[in-house]
Amino acid sequence: MSVAIANIGELVTWEPDQPIRHGAGLVVEDGRVAWLGPSSATPAADERIDAGGGAVVPGFVDSHTHLVFAGDRAAEFAARMAGQRYEAGGIRTTVVATREAGEAELRKLARHRLAELHAQGTTTVEIKSGYGLDVATEETLLRVASGLTAETTYLGAHVVPDGWTADAYVDLVTGEMLTRCAPLARWVDVFCETGAFDADQARTVLEAGMAAGLQPRVHANQLGHGPGVQLACELGAAAADHCTYLTDADVSALADSGVVAGLLPGVEFSTKHPYPDARRLRDAGVRIALATDCNPGTSYTSSMPFCIALAVREMGLTPEEALRAATRGGAESLRRDDVGQLGVGARADLVLLDAPSHVHLAYRPGVPLVKRVLSSGVLST
Ligand SMILES: [Zn+2]
Repeated sequence: MSVAIANIGELVTWEPDQPIRHGAGLVVEDGRVAWLGPSSATPAADERIDAGGGAVVPGFVDSHTHLVFAGDRAAEFAARMAGQRYEAGGIRTTVVATREAGEAELRKLARHRLAELHAQGTTTVEIKSGYGLDVATEETLLRVASGLTAETTYLGAHVVPDGWTADAYVDLVTGEMLTRCAPLARWVDVFCETGAFDADQARTVLEAGMAAGLQPRVHANQLGHGPGVQLACELGAAAADHCTYLTDADVSALADSGVVAGLLPGVEFSTKHPYPDARRLRDAGVRIALATDCNPGTSYTSSMPFCIALAVREMGLTPEEALRAATRGGAESLRRDDVGQLGVGARADLVLLDAPSHVHLAYRPGVPLVKRVLSSGVLST
């Protein structure tokens, strides 16, 4: 099965020598990009799509979501907008609702959210557990997640559940819960923050996960300065996500280690915290990913275009840098080189925009510019 796309006004591939082409064509064969060139030379294929002068960009790679949960926290959001401050404990509200929902209901809810992401151009998604906080529910969340994506993350250490001391809960997270969850996960994550887990507890969780074959990533430096980023760098984590409050030493550690800084501006939008300074990170040579952090408490958006717009308007990135962070950067955060780019051989995950260039993603915020989505070369929207 082959698909040819001709008349592409602007084609973003992120190829080193020519990252953005104009007047281009592209051919997909067996789910991979097989040919790139001028539109007029586009070869014949089983199916032909006329892009009508619109832009084609790589499918978005959302490297940080919490898609599997029940309930919502709209009332908490409204209270926050009326002046209340966010603290890590609000997660417990979602835990109660998630434990009460059965596996079938959780799957239905997560599928619905995944379709929502997809319709907005996301073709690769990471999904975390973390709203169960007991062995059976964490396992259920990962079973649901692993039916939806290969990028599953064990986040048993999201917060300490009611009725537990932190140390006793860390024993559970690194013991029986890990044994049950590790076969269903690729990654291990921990919320290293005041009110969640301190540096020693976070290190214990990550090292246990690594010993069980999982790769580490960290929720770090969201609510204030803290040890999360340094811990991520020390352990060679794939990503330190949030990075809202960073010292100069944190920025240097990220640059030196190559750990990807995952920036989640939907959180700052929803909590009224200051946005992370993406410009400072870029200028220091830190690799950046943009992700939604889609979750019911602090960022209930499923829209990567919205995050791109925020990154440009509030965080100092150019539209091109923001798009790169939302595609190639997300892939780097997930240690993937087959997605987030459209060079020959890449997985044919791409988005056709109802706009002549990627700049419109930030220039026209809130406008549904995603016209069609191909996932592994198959038209899905
Ligand atoms: Zn998160």
